[in-house]
Parts: sequence; C-alpha cells; structure tokens
Amino acid sequence: MSALPRAVEAPEETLRLAASAVTDAAGRDQNQDVAAALAIGSSGPSGAGEDFLLIVADGMGGHPAGDVASQIAMNTLIEAFPTLPAGDLGLALKQAYRRANEAVFQAGEAEPAQAGMGTTLTSALLHGKYATVAHVGDSRAYLLRGDALTQVTRDHTVVAEEVAQGRITAEAARRDPRRNRLTHVIGTHPRLESKLPAIFELTLLPGDRLLLCSDGLYDVLEDDDMRRALLGQDPPNSARQLVETAKERGTRDNATAVVAAAIPTRVPATAAQPGPASRTGGVPGMAIAAVIAILLVVLLLLAVVVLGAPL
Ligand code: CA
Repeated sequence: MSALPRAVEAPEETLRLAASAVTDAAGRDQNQDVAAALAIGSSGPSGAGEDFLLIVADGMGGHPAGDVASQIAMNTLIEAFPTLPAGDLGLALKQAYRRANEAVFQAGEAEPAQAGMGTTLTSALLHGKYATVAHVGDSRAYLLRGDALTQVTRDHTVVAEEVAQGRITAEAARRDPRRNRLTHVIGTHPRLESKLPAIFELTLLPGDRLLLCSDGLYDVLEDDDMRRALLGQDPPNSARQLVETAKERGTRDNATAVVAAAIPTRVPATAAQPGPASRTGGVPGMAIAAVIAILLVVLLLLAVVVLGAPL
C-alpha cells in the first residue's frame, strides 16, 4: 500500500580523495624542489576515504643549499601531521609553518655553507570535502572546477604585489625580469611575519581538482595546458603529464606538480544513514507523538473548562 520515500532509494553522492606528486630536476642538474602527497588517516566511517597532506617546497636557487631548506621545511610538516589534527586546521598549519621557519633558519645559522638558505612552502590538508591551503613564497595552488581554472594563492613576489595594486598587468608580470624576486620566504628570518602563512579554506565539489606546483612548472605552461592535464584522468597521470609538458616546453628550472582529485562516489542512502532509526520506523513514531500531544491539549482544555467555570 505504501511506497518507500524516494530519498531512501536514491543513492547519495559522497567524495573520495586521491592524490599524487611528481617532481623532476627538469631544466637543471639538481632538484631543489620537494613534493609529497601523503594519506594521513581515515576520516569518518570506514570506506569514507582518507585525509591527505599535500606539499610543494622550492628551495631558493639563488641561495646555497636550497635543496636542504626545502627538505627541512617538508619534513617539519610531515612530522606535524602524522594524522589530521582535531580543531582549526588553518591554525594548526600556521603553527607548523612557524616551526618550519625556525628549523630552516637554525640550520642555516648552524652551517656557514647553508647560511641564508630559504624555501617556498605551499601545502594543503584535505579532509573529506574540505581543503585548507597554506602558502608562503611563489609556488602556487590552483583549483579546477568544471573547466574553470582559478589560482588560489597569490605569489609573494614584487610583481604579484604590483599586479594586485593595478600597477602592471598579469601578462606583463609573466615576462617581468623581476618575477623571481620574492617578498616572503621560509627560513631567511628568525621569525615568520604574523600574517603568514596565507590560509585559504576551500570546499571541494565532486570532480574538482587541486594542483600545487612550483614556478618551474607554471612559468612555461598556459592555463589550457593545466586544464587538459587535469581533466578526465587520475592524479598520477595528471601530475606526470604536467611535468612532462613543462620539460617539453623547455623549462630551465625544476618542475613539480602535486594533484588531488575529489572523486564522486555513489553509496546507497540507506547504508549512509548513521543511526539505527530507519526512515520507515520514524514516521509511525512521529504520528504517535502527535496523537499524544493532541490528547494532552484536549485534557488541558477540559481541565480549564471544569475547574475554571465556577470562577
Ligand atoms: Ca623554482
């Protein structure tokens, strides 16, 4: 006689995360970039997917021991997040960046050959549909949604600040000889400025792609190259294609791409419902509660009529 409510039969869409990192010396003898895409723990009920820590760090080429600086910065984040912390992920990333800055700075102080070394550090914590991006330097994070590519981070460079102030165009900045001059970096000063790292909170939709990359990659790629590499294939193939394209375009720098995908997965809605109470059991329960409530109101009215009438 009664059909089940439609919502019970329709599958529910959830996200599964996948991520991959590729780094290559590409146009140089040594690779001062480092990268990671680490699964750091399980979120929610079993089968709901893993959390991820994504990292790109680009050791400063103009300084000695840039490869040491990027490695120390990355290791500090990996040690800080063996699992996803509870609470404010942006705050947890800010604290980890302070430790990374101190670790790189102190290593530079301790070893004259490494004095003045520094690194960019762009990272993301992914938890279900939530992505928290932290950023210092001129590595970048991009979001691909549908076929729209958006740069999430703003470079900490002289020319990026001039673009933001409207003094030069983004196109002119791409060819500006000062484009590698950084305004903020990890490890060159004892303390990180309080406004750093820049934090960006994103909510991922099914099909979204998140890309973290170094300047050796984005300098030689057009937005269309990134779109093509990110669309319609899994993160390992996307990351590989991005780095290979940068090499084909003749990048003269190290090239790094970290790609994460929010993959839509469909699970039956009945299986996704948490509590033991089923939809079919809930409806009669509510009806009984309503009947009891009506009876109580009637009794109350009778009491008022009977007891209140003589007054
Ligand atoms: Ca670089």
